[in-house]
Amino acid sequence: MKRCFNRLSLEELAALYTAIRDILQRAIDASGTTVRDYRTGTGGSGTFQLELQVYDRAGEPCRRCGRALATTHAIDGRQTTLCAWCQR
Ligand SMILES: [Zn+2]
Repeated sequence: MKRCFNRLSLEELAALYTAIRDILQRAIDASGTTVRDYRTGTGGSGTFQLELQVYDRAGEPCRRCGRALATTHAIDGRQTTLCAWCQR
């Protein structure tokens, strides 16, 4: 469902802002998203593409290995969904 930004309530705008900020922070924390041959300044691959595959998918199967995704608050106090197998 597509909606215009100016039709959103203040609460919805605040939630959207928080979600965008959280995703950007996670991307920065994960050293960027590796698409094709992008590398970080030190030549490593980013890991955010793994987070994109699990984001908000707690309890669903990992798209990479099929194991159930886990949710934890232990990492940084925010809800984090991850595959304990692929994202060690
Ligand atoms: Zn996995």
